[in-house]
Amino acid sequence: MHDFRYAGGVLCCEDVPLGRIAEAVGTPAYVYSKHTLQEHYRRLEEAFSGIPHLVCYSVKANSNLAVLAVLAAMGSGADIVSGGELYRALKAGIPAEKIVYAGIGKTEEEMAYALRQDILMFNVESETELLALDRVAGEQGKRARIALRINPDVDPLTHPYIATGMKEAKFGIDMEKALAVYQQAASLAHVEVLGVHQHIGSQITRVEPFRDSLEKTGEFVRRLHEHGIKVRFINIGGGFGIPYGGEEVPYPVDYARAMKPVLKEHRCTVILEIGRMIVGNAGVLLTKVLYRKRGGAKRFLVVDAAMNDLVRPSLYGSYHEIVPVEERERERETVDVVGPVCEAGDFLAKERAMPRVEEGELLAVMSAGAYGFVMSSNYNSRRRAAEVLVDGGDFAVVRERESLEDLVKGERILR
Ligand SMILES: *Cc1c(COP(=O)(O)O)cnc(C)c1O
Repeated sequence: MHDFRYAGGVLCCEDVPLGRIAEAVGTPAYVYSKHTLQEHYRRLEEAFSGIPHLVCYSVKANSNLAVLAVLAAMGSGADIVSGGELYRALKAGIPAEKIVYAGIGKTEEEMAYALRQDILMFNVESETELLALDRVAGEQGKRARIALRINPDVDPLTHPYIATGMKEAKFGIDMEKALAVYQQAASLAHVEVLGVHQHIGSQITRVEPFRDSLEKTGEFVRRLHEHGIKVRFINIGGGFGIPYGGEEVPYPVDYARAMKPVLKEHRCTVILEIGRMIVGNAGVLLTKVLYRKRGGAKRFLVVDAAMNDLVRPSLYGSYHEIVPVEERERERETVDVVGPVCEAGDFLAKERAMPRVEEGELLAVMSAGAYGFVMSSNYNSRRRAAEVLVDGGDFAVVRERESLEDLVKGERILR
């Protein structure tokens, strides 16, 4: 579900016409719906209401402070992958005791920061990281609470760039080795074993990979118990997929139903690290058509948003629906929607059959709330877009468009 729909002939976010936002803020701009965020969070909470659980919103999907604050107010925790994300999560009001920290390359500085803040736990991804964490915690006279990230080796049936739980992935620890690493963890003076962590990938649109991986993880938890290692948390990671083009995907209740048997058996608190499912369809990228252009038999729409604003199409070949903001009878045509960046790989859509739009018109690139702005860059010295949060009939800029001064901030000419 989402709150972007046509009303009075124009596309609105909740009760605000997108044209009004473009007029006030300019384009390109990311526009997020507060109500959609809240509704997605609520559905997730409800789906898992029968079992002890903690939703840790995956900050990397969309780390805008205003977005984080909306989720913090709903009671969300945070799944972070860097010291920077920890800073954001805390600033937005997410309590440290609801923060879990994943990532294969945590520096000692980041570990020390997270320990000082007393986060819930670290999701440790290798033996050497475990030893480093033990050392850093020792320096602070503390015990670091941890889960080890294990690889259930299940194919999540998604894009290879976002499949993370297979044996050859750079993430996590192989199942065969995991028991020994747990035993080592249990023997360390400054580490406390609290849970098991898995994260098999992103944009997964079937329940089976979750059911299968959780069964393997559940079996592993049983083995841990046999060896005297008791865990209180099972972290199932994230990856719930969303519809990008009207396709059917499971609802949170479907995932919950498939996973409940294993989760109930172990009486652990389940941690959910959900990003995309909460924010993906809560945001659009608003852009203006600069030029219509032909190249041979091809038609191009040159728009003012580019791969530096939304890289998913260029990076993963991702599909984003693109719709005109003004609703009217139109011819259809097949076009490439491209940005101004000087790269042949800079496109938002290729060979797309869509309603004909004219120069100066506004387009909404749908489902851009997750892995959109957060992956943006200043390539071609393009200023990063503004971000706007809509709440009913009101909207507010929650990140200003960058200025020219912002572009050169921190740079120096040597004379
Ligand atoms: C990216 C990530 C998530 C969130 O993935 P989504 O597909 O956005 O739900 C959760 N856990 C970890 C460890 C991640 O790296």
